[in-house]
Amino acid sequence: MAYQTINPYTNELIQTYDEATTEDIETSLAQAQQLYKRWRNDPVGTRTPVLHRLAQLFRDEKDDLAKVLTTEMGKLFSEAQGEVLLCASIADYYADHAEELLMPRKIDSIAGEAQLENHPLGVLMAVEPWNFPYYQMMRIFAPNFAVGDPIVYKHAANTPASALAFEDAVKRAGAPDGSLTNLFLSYDQVGDVIADSRVQGVALTGSERGGTAVAEAAGKHLKKSTMELGGADAFIVAHDANMEQVNAIAPRARLYNAGQVCTSSKRFIVTENHYDEFLENLKKSFAAVKMGDPMDPATTLAPMNSKRAKEKLQEQVDAALQGGATAYFVHEPAEDDGQFFPPTILTDIAKDNPAYGKEMFGPVAQVYKVKDDDEAVELANDTDLGLGGIVFAGTGEYGAQLASRMETGQVFVNTFFSSLPELEFGGVKKSGFGRELGHNGIMSFVNQELVVKRDAPNDNEFGGLVAPAHYHDL
Ligand code: NAP
Repeated sequence: MAYQTINPYTNELIQTYDEATTEDIETSLAQAQQLYKRWRNDPVGTRTPVLHRLAQLFRDEKDDLAKVLTTEMGKLFSEAQGEVLLCASIADYYADHAEELLMPRKIDSIAGEAQLENHPLGVLMAVEPWNFPYYQMMRIFAPNFAVGDPIVYKHAANTPASALAFEDAVKRAGAPDGSLTNLFLSYDQVGDVIADSRVQGVALTGSERGGTAVAEAAGKHLKKSTMELGGADAFIVAHDANMEQVNAIAPRARLYNAGQVCTSSKRFIVTENHYDEFLENLKKSFAAVKMGDPMDPATTLAPMNSKRAKEKLQEQVDAALQGGATAYFVHEPAEDDGQFFPPTILTDIAKDNPAYGKEMFGPVAQVYKVKDDDEAVELANDTDLGLGGIVFAGTGEYGAQLASRMETGQVFVNTFFSSLPELEFGGVKKSGFGRELGHNGIMSFVNQELVVKRDAPNDNEFGGLVAPAHYHDL
C-alpha cells in the first residue's frame, strides 16, 4: 500500500489509503475544467473572501491541524503550530493583495492602447512533499486560487492525512467543488494527468529525482512548469561576523524541522579566524539537544519523517566518513525507538568526498574552513544546487555584497531564513526553476494576454512584423 500514515515517533501504522481510480481522476479533471471555464469570466475579488475564511479556519483549528502534522511526519508540535499560522498568513495575504498583484499592465505603444491582462491559465497539477505538508500546499493554492486556476494534487505517500485535512479545510472555507482536489496517484497516474489536455500547468516541490521525472513529463506534453527542488545552502561566516549572532542562529538554521528544510543551512563555510569558536559553539548546541516525544514541549529535536529518510541520511554520513570526512561530533543515540537521527557535525570534507556540495536532509552539519570571504563565496558556489543561503557579516551592507555574488535563489543577511507570503521562493541550477509566492509566484500560471485596442485601424504606417519608420521616436 503506497499511501500510509505511520507515526515516526511510535512507528505505529495508523492508516492506509486506496489509490485513486481512473474514474476518480476523470471526475476530478472534468470538475476542475468546468470550474476553470466559469472562473475565466469571474473577477479575482469573487474568490478572495474564501481565502480570508480559510485563514480564519486555520487559526481557529490550529491545534487540531498541527496534531495531524506531528502524528504523521513527526515534527515538533510547536513547529507544526507555527506552520499552521504561516498558512493562515499566506491565505490572508493573497486575499488582500491578489487583485493588486494581478492588475493589468499598460504598455506604451504606437499600435494602440495596449495592456497585458492577467487571466487564469487553466487546471494545474501539483506534486508536493511531506516536510511542510500544509505550507507547501498553501504556497501553491492561495495565489493560484486567487488567479482562478483549479488544482488537482498528489501529496507525498507518507502524508495522506495532511493532504486530506488541507483539502477538507479548503472545502469548509467555501471554495467551490473542483477548486482543489486531492488524488492519491501513482507515479504513472501523475504522468497521465500531466498528459491530459485539460491540464495547463505543473508545479512540483521535492527532490531532484522527483523533479527530473515530473519536469520531463511536463516538457514532453508542453506544459508550463515550476520546479522547487533541493538545496545545499551555504551559511557563510565572514571575517567580520558578529559571533554572538552567529552562535545564536546557526544551530537553529540546521536543526529546525529536524533539519528537513529545503533552505536549511547545510554547509557552514567559516573564515579561519572564527572556525574554532564556531565549531565549539555548534557542538555545545548540538549536544544540548533533547530528542523525545514531539508533542512534549520539552523536546527540542523531533524524529525524522520516516525510517527510509533516516536510513538514507545514515548512508550519506557513512559514505562521507569513508570518503575521508571527520565526525567532529555525534550526539548520543536517542532513548526512544522513533526515527531519530543523532545531530552530527562533519568536518574535513574534501572536494572529492561524496558529501561535498550535496544535500543532507536531516540534522547533519557540514562545516568548512576557508581563508577569507572570497574563498567562502567561491566554495558556496561550488555545487550543482542553488536554492538559498545565509551570510553573517559585520554589516548588512557588506553581507549583501557577498550575497549578491552567490549563485542562489535567495539569501538572508545577518538573520534567520524565512518564508513569508510576500517573498519570492525558488532556486537556480538543479534547485529548480520558477518561483512560488510573491509577485513572480502569483504570475507563474497566468495567461498574460496582450490586448491592443483602437477605435479604428491604424493608418497603415506599419503592420505585421515590419518596424515602423519612426519606431526610434518611441
Ligand atoms: P521527492 O521524493 O521528490 O517527493 C516529493 C513529491 O514528488 C512526493 O509527492 C513524491 O511522491 C513525488 N514524486 C517523487 N518522484 C516522483 C515521480 N517519479 N513521479 C511523480 N511524482 C513523484 O522528495 P522528498 O525527498 O520526499 O522531499 C525532500 C526534497 O524536497 C528535498 O530535496 C528538499 O530540499 C526538497 N524540497 C524543496 C523545496 C523547495 O521549495 N525548493 C521545499 C521542500 C522540499 P511519493 O511520496 O509518492 O514518492
